[in-house]
Amino acid sequence: MEMTIISDDMRDFIEGLPKAELHVHLEGTLGPETVLKLAARNGLDYPFKTVKDVENALNNRTVGLVSFLDLHYLFVSVIKTREDFYEVTYEFLRTCRENNVVYVEIKFDPQFHTERGISFYDMIQGIDEGRKDGYKDFGVEANLIMCINRERTVESAWEMMEQAYPYRHLITGLGLDSYEKDNPPSKYTEVYMKARKQGYRVTAHCDVDQEDSVEHIWECIDLLKTDRIDHGVNSIEDPELVKELIKRDITLTACPTWRSPYPEPRDLERIRKMYDMGLKVTLNTDDPAEFTSGYMNQTLIGAVEGSGYTKEDLLSFMRNAFEGSWLPQESKDRYIKALNDYAVSRIRRLH
Ligand SMILES: [Zn+2]
Repeated sequence: MEMTIISDDMRDFIEGLPKAELHVHLEGTLGPETVLKLAARNGLDYPFKTVKDVENALNNRTVGLVSFLDLHYLFVSVIKTREDFYEVTYEFLRTCRENNVVYVEIKFDPQFHTERGISFYDMIQGIDEGRKDGYKDFGVEANLIMCINRERTVESAWEMMEQAYPYRHLITGLGLDSYEKDNPPSKYTEVYMKARKQGYRVTAHCDVDQEDSVEHIWECIDLLKTDRIDHGVNSIEDPELVKELIKRDITLTACPTWRSPYPEPRDLERIRKMYDMGLKVTLNTDDPAEFTSGYMNQTLIGAVEGSGYTKEDLLSFMRNAFEGSWLPQESKDRYIKALNDYAVSRIRRLH
């Protein structure tokens, strides 16, 4: 792949761009220092003692989803208390501010926490207080998406829905993530039907290059009736599917991330193709602390360097993100107006 180094002007444009992110996991925002701090605070007998240990573990993963998730869950296991959830959420919103992300939808994995003895109450209160204080102190607005860990049992997902019920006013959406092999979206058709009835917006991961990925995307839109797909990069293999995704105005939250020791941004060419085919695609960081691509500014810089996106392209991606978000229409309009004002101030003339 041909990589170009972007100009200072483009870097400046990216940094100043008001951004929205729709695909980021709270549990993927723990930097090495946070992992070690929480492990020590919670008195855990933890395999990593130094930042170097954590970095080595990150660098020694093999390619693929399974190796990624195995280490991911080891990091996440340091989160134990309401205070931990508060701190991780608050600190993530600080990082959003630094990246000029003005709106973010944060995913989290309740089952992984409740199975470790943490109450749903402590988890959701910590996250919610963190996001409220984050909004107050950094001006970053956040909504929450609870995700089903798809490799668990359907009963466990029902249990999660029940635990979440008293707090559903704090949770905007339902998602589906984790080990995809042998866990197709159709496993959760009924859970999704109920979730939609309870007022949740719905999305689901169709991770990159998983077995039957195209079929999984069809299941999401036909059975789960999601209005978004997380990743969904393999959709471009099926022209009928592409047509349908465009017709139904489905937003696909792509992640042009990369990780050491595989230096090239993942999927850049296919994401570019999605965009060129007219799919409503957005750019996201997924698990920013665990990818070399990092947080939003760096991820966008990588995407521009690898795919040659113009300023207009970046504005389209952000427009897609605000439009595809689960904000009320008047908030979308306000954010898109701010985006357009930024465009006019930086480009002067919009086409
Ligand atoms: Zn994800």
